[in-house]
Amino acid sequence: MEIDEAREVRTTCPYCGVGCGVLAKVAADGQVSVRGDPDHPANFGRLCSKGSALAETIGLDGRLLHPQIHDHGSSWDEALDLVASTFSQTIAEHGPDAVAFYVSGQLLTEDYYVANKLMKGFVGSANIDTNSRLCMASSVAGHRRAFGSDTVPGTYEDLELSDLIVLVGSNLAWCHPVLYQRIAAAREKRPEMKVVLVDPRRTMTSDIADMHLAIAPDGDVALFTGLLAWLGQHNALDRAYITAHTSGFGQALFAASALNLAGVAAATGLSEDELGRFYSLFARTEKTVTVYSQGVNQSSQGTDKVNAIINCHLATGRIGKPGAGPFSVTGQPNAMGGREVGGMANMLAAHMEIENPEHRERVQRFWNAPAIAGKPGLKAVDMFKAVADGRIKALWIMATNPVDSMPDAAAVEAAIKACPFVVVSDVLAETDTVRHAHVRLPATAWGEKDGTVTNSERRISRQRAFLPVPGEARPDWWIIAEVARRMGFDEAFAHETPAEIFAEHAALSGFENDGARDFDIGAYAGVDREDYDALAPFQWPAPSPGTPLTPTGHQSTRFFANGNFYTPDRKARFIAIRPTVETRITSDFPLILNTGRIRDHWHTMTRTGKSPRLSQHIAEPFVEIHPVDAQHHGIGDADIARVSTPRGEVLVRALVTTRQRQGSLFAPMHWTDQFAARARLDTLTASLTDPVSGQPALKHVAASIEKFTARTFGFAVTRKRPATMAADYWAVARCRGGWRVELAFANDDVDWTAFAGSLFDTADAEVLAYHDREAGQHRIAAFDGEHLTGALFIAPGPVAVSRGWAAEQLGEVHASQRQRFRIVAGRAGAGRPDAGATVCSCFNVGVNQITAAVAAGCATVDVIGATLKAGTNCGSCRSEIRAIIAANRIQAAE
Ligand code: SF4
Repeated sequence: MEIDEAREVRTTCPYCGVGCGVLAKVAADGQVSVRGDPDHPANFGRLCSKGSALAETIGLDGRLLHPQIHDHGSSWDEALDLVASTFSQTIAEHGPDAVAFYVSGQLLTEDYYVANKLMKGFVGSANIDTNSRLCMASSVAGHRRAFGSDTVPGTYEDLELSDLIVLVGSNLAWCHPVLYQRIAAAREKRPEMKVVLVDPRRTMTSDIADMHLAIAPDGDVALFTGLLAWLGQHNALDRAYITAHTSGFGQALFAASALNLAGVAAATGLSEDELGRFYSLFARTEKTVTVYSQGVNQSSQGTDKVNAIINCHLATGRIGKPGAGPFSVTGQPNAMGGREVGGMANMLAAHMEIENPEHRERVQRFWNAPAIAGKPGLKAVDMFKAVADGRIKALWIMATNPVDSMPDAAAVEAAIKACPFVVVSDVLAETDTVRHAHVRLPATAWGEKDGTVTNSERRISRQRAFLPVPGEARPDWWIIAEVARRMGFDEAFAHETPAEIFAEHAALSGFENDGARDFDIGAYAGVDREDYDALAPFQWPAPSPGTPLTPTGHQSTRFFANGNFYTPDRKARFIAIRPTVETRITSDFPLILNTGRIRDHWHTMTRTGKSPRLSQHIAEPFVEIHPVDAQHHGIGDADIARVSTPRGEVLVRALVTTRQRQGSLFAPMHWTDQFAARARLDTLTASLTDPVSGQPALKHVAASIEKFTARTFGFAVTRKRPATMAADYWAVARCRGGWRVELAFANDDVDWTAFAGSLFDTADAEVLAYHDREAGQHRIAAFDGEHLTGALFIAPGPVAVSRGWAAEQLGEVHASQRQRFRIVAGRAGAGRPDAGATVCSCFNVGVNQITAAVAAGCATVDVIGATLKAGTNCGSCRSEIRAIIAANRIQAAE
C-alpha cells in the first residue's frame, strides 16, 4: 500500500516495550485509523490487538482538560505557582529529601530527562523513582552487577537468528505479542529452531514451545544455577571467553556445584529427566537466547535470577553474538528511556552512577546545577513508606496510578491521602490516584505529544503528534520546566521544544565519554527541530560511519561479543549464587498467588478500558485455579471467588483450568475501582522487595480462596455507564454502544425494578419486564422509542444470556413489540447463533464460531482465518485459536 506521507504520521505504540512503529492517519471527517509501520525494525508492519485498537482509545471522554486545585478549576499560572511555591517552601523548611517525584515508563524521554534534572541537580535529592521499579529494576541491577552497566547486549533479530529460545517468566503471546509473532514466523521458516518455556503456568505462549517447564514459583535461581553446574560438569564451557573477558568464574561455579540435580529438582518442582533434557539442549545449542521479563524481575530474588541467567551465557561465551545472548524485555514503552536519563532513585543520568563522585561532578558541571544528589534516593516501595510516615511532605505523581499498581496498595492509598501536598499530572480526570490529588495537572496524551521512546533492543523512536492538543492540556516536559522556572531555575529549564531537550540529553551522553560508558548518542547533540522531526528509529550507541547493515537493511549493534565490559577491569563479573527456597504459604494461606497481565488490557486500563474491542476478550477480573485445588476449596467454574491474603481480599470470577499449576493461583492486575467492585489486586500483595533492586515480589504471595456464596447473579447492558452499582460484586466493561455489567448479590431480597432504574434510565422509557419470583428469574428492558437504553437479566445462578448478543442489541433498531419482547426473553431469534466469548477482537469472532468451524473441518489457524477472518489482522489471538483447535481434536479423539 502506498503511504500518503501528507496525512499519515509515523509514531510509536505507547504500550509495551516492543516499541512497534505505528502509522496514524486522521481522515477529513476526523476519524483516526492506525496500522503497523512496515519500515519500523521492531515490528515490520505488525501490530498486536492493543496496538491495532489505539484509535478507539483517543476519545476525549473522561479527559482532564484543565488544571484543578482542590477539586476546582484553576488557571495554569495559579496551579504552577502553587506547585512551585509549595515544593520550594517544603525544601526550605525540611530539606530536599522531604519532596519526591513518582514518575512513569509512560513518560517520553524528554519528560523523564527534565524531571530527573530538576530533582537530582536542582532540588538536590534523588527522590525520583518510577513505576519501572515494578517492571525491570532487577534486570537493571543484574546488568550492572555483571556488566558494570545497564546494557542490553542483543537485538530482536537475535530471536530470529537463534536455534534455541528459552523464555523465562515471560508470556510473550500476551505481553509482547509482536515479538511472539516474530518468533512464531521464524519457527515456521526454520522448524528445527527450538523454544523452551519456563513458567509455572501453561500460558498461551506454550503453543510455540517444544518444552514447557512448569517450574515452582521462584525456582528459576535453582534452575539456572543448576545449569551452570551442569555446563561445568559436561565440558560445555567457553574457557577462552571466560579467561579473556570475565572474573569470578571459579567462585560462581563452586557455589553452583553445591546443588546437585536432585536438589535442583526439589527446588524447581521439575523432574530430573526434564532438567537433563533442558540442560543438554542448552549445552549443545550455540545460538541460544534467553528471554526474560516480569516472571524473573518481580521477585524477592529477581536480581539473583537475572545473574543466574547471565552467568550461563558468560560461561558459554554466548553474549552479543548474532542469535545468542541474555535478553531482558521490558514491560513499558519507555522503561529503557527512563533508564537512559537516570530516572530511577539509584541512577544518575546518561548511565552514570550516583555513587561515583567523578560522575556526580561531571553531571553537575554539565548541568551547571547548584546541587547534585549525593546518595541514592528512596526506591518506590520505600518512597511510599516515607510518604506514610511523614518524611515526604510533598509528592508529585506523573503518568501513573500507584493506588492500584503499587504493592500493599491500600497502605499506599492511605499514605497518599495523608500526604500534606499531592500533585498528579495525568490525562484522565478520574483514576483511583487522581481523586486524592490537591493539584491536578492536565497532560497531553498519545497522539498529542511529541518526543522519543526507547524499546527493549535499545532502539530510539519518535512518538509524534497527529492530533490537536485538547483543552488546556500541556506536555509533561513543559509542565515540569514551568515549575522549575518558578522555583528559580530559569536558565537551566529554558527549553522551548522537546528537540532542544533531546539534544541536551544526547550531548550529556557524549560528554567526556571516552568509551567508558555504554550509552552514547552524542552524535545527536546537534539535532535541530528539523532533524528531530525527521529522526528515523536508531539503536544506541549511535551508529558510527560504516556500521554494516543487517539483512533487513537496518543498522544494528550488539555488545560484549569481544568483552569490553564497563567494569573497572573491563571484565564481566560472574556472581556466585546459592539458591534459597522460600516457603511463604501457611495453613491459613495455603496457595501461591501469581499476578500478571492479559492479552487485551494494559496496566490499570486507563486507555484500553476505553476500547469496546479490547474490553470484549476478557470483561471481568478473574482468578485461575487448578481443578484439584478448585474441588478442594469448593470452587466451581464461573463462581465468584474471594481471594484473600494477610493484606486484603478481592472478589473475582473463578476460572478452573489445568493451565494453572496445582497449588498456585493466577489473577490479572488490571482492574481498579473504576471497573470493578473489589478487584484491586495489589491490595493483596505485600511490600516485600528484592534486596538489591528494590523491585517488589508480585508473583509469589501466600493466599487463600473460598467461594463467595451468591444467591443471585445478574447481567446488564446499558447505554450510559451506571453512576452506582449497589451489588456485592460488579464489573463493568465497554461494549459497542454502551457498557456491559456483571453482577452478583449475597441475597435475593432486592427490588429489581428499582435496581434496573439505578443502572439505566427507566423513568421516561417504555419498560418491558418478566418476573418469575418463584424461580428467581427477572428480566427488565427499557426502550427509548425503538432503541434499547438498557436491559437487566437476573437469575439464581450464572445468567445464561449471550453477552455478545445482548451487547449488540444496544446498537440495533427494535421497531416492533415482538422484537422488543425478544430482549426480555433473553435470547436471539432463530438463525442468530451465540458467537460465545470473544477470541478475535479485531473481527469480533467468538469461541463458539471457531469451535463450529473446527467441527466442520477447519483444521489449521490459517483455514480458520480464511473462513472466519479470525487471526488475520493483528494475529494476537492465533495462539488461542490453535488451543481451541487442539482441544477439539482431543475431544473428538476421546
Ligand atoms: S507488541 Fe503490541 S502493545 Fe507492544 S508495542 Fe507492539 S503493538 Fe504495541
